[in-house]
Amino acid sequence: MHWPQPATPARGVVQMRREFWTNNRKFVVENSSHRPVGRGELFDIFTDLTNVETATHMLGRRGTRAPDAAQTRWLYFAFRFLRDNKAQLVGVNLNQALASLFKVVCRGQIRARAVDLTSELNFGREVLRIIGYRRTYLAGRLAAPKNPSALEQFFERDDKLPPQTSLDLDESLLRGQLETDIVALMKAHDPGGFASIRLRRDPLGTAKAVHRFARKHFRPYIAAIETLPVTISAPLTDRVSLLEDEFTDDRRVALLANRAEHLDLLTAAHYNSNRQRDEQVLEEILRDVLKRRKDVEDLVDRHLRVTPRAGHTQKFVKLQRDFQRDKAHTEKQARANAQWQRVGSISHELMHFYCHHDFEKKSGSVKFGQVITEGFTELLGLELYDALRQQVINNTDTDLIKGLRAGAAADEFKQAANDASRQSYVKALNRAREIQTRVGKPNVWAAYFLGKPQLIGLA
Ligand SMILES: [Zn+2]
Repeated sequence: MHWPQPATPARGVVQMRREFWTNNRKFVVENSSHRPVGRGELFDIFTDLTNVETATHMLGRRGTRAPDAAQTRWLYFAFRFLRDNKAQLVGVNLNQALASLFKVVCRGQIRARAVDLTSELNFGREVLRIIGYRRTYLAGRLAAPKNPSALEQFFERDDKLPPQTSLDLDESLLRGQLETDIVALMKAHDPGGFASIRLRRDPLGTAKAVHRFARKHFRPYIAAIETLPVTISAPLTDRVSLLEDEFTDDRRVALLANRAEHLDLLTAAHYNSNRQRDEQVLEEILRDVLKRRKDVEDLVDRHLRVTPRAGHTQKFVKLQRDFQRDKAHTEKQARANAQWQRVGSISHELMHFYCHHDFEKKSGSVKFGQVITEGFTELLGLELYDALRQQVINNTDTDLIKGLRAGAAADEFKQAANDASRQSYVKALNRAREIQTRVGKPNVWAAYFLGKPQLIGLA
């Protein structure tokens, strides 16, 4: 019998354990075996870390992904890395870590510098990055509030009694009254009634300046998640743009439906947003109003033009061009002031961009969900905004100021920094602020950016 010679003769197995430090902890990397690694070896180590069922599910014949030879080898050593460093990885959910590794490696998304697994530092750090180790580590240093029930009033939690009405929607009341009420509400805040000023310059430069500063200001929390495969790490260029000029009826209806939630009429008509049928009726009425009345369409468009928005799941930021103008201002003052309004919008919307999904989804479990979605966003946005104003007032960082200013006159811009302010989501903001007073900033930041709501008492 004749065995073909292997293409590269197997070198002797060298047992080497190498070490590296990160976040004050020592990790060992053992990756020097030259033995070939097959599916069997991968299966064994997988079973070691979880159990036969999970291993079979992931790697068996019906397994969802099929790593090639190089990927199998990388995964094998990554799994061994987890096993060898189990003590340092306390708090990391191993099942999730394995699933993340499996997904990222099979998709070919390992960073180029870490593909060669004999470079132990790059390899080890890449494994830690993929499993989100830093997020766990940072959150693990903070303690959850000891008495979360003391925080309940600030969330207006109402777990015991579902507040949703069981009465049917009073459709005729809604059909008879909604048009009058919603049009009155929109007219009361008609931006057409304000003097306005348009900023011609693209907001991207300003957004980049705010973003760079935010990463520094909220260090290390934003940095801990932005490289995770679960979050969006695409460049800001692809994520920040101006609002569209023309709006679709879908956008108009969405804005009207959102504002309609503030009307007493909806409560009176037993409207329940958890019932699909109710939403359909509401939309249908609003659509019909828009179809019949050009004046309402124009009114809604005026609102849309000054309402920036952020996409929660797709992570984008759309910003307005037009800003409110104080008639007493000179042209230069008005531009400087509008530029500060823009910086304020960016500060708020960028926080949405970085809000962790596990935090956002808690809005459904508290009665006043706006504390979660907008209250904390405004709180952190203001934190950022105030820090930026301070930078400009103190004249500390000329590059930053240049980026923020974006063409506004230097003196007027600095002058306007003193009295720039925002008045958004005040009720939700105050609730969020109360919580921050009780649990402290680090807990709020970690809860929001790292997706650890238990740190502000939301288990
Ligand atoms: Zn918002």
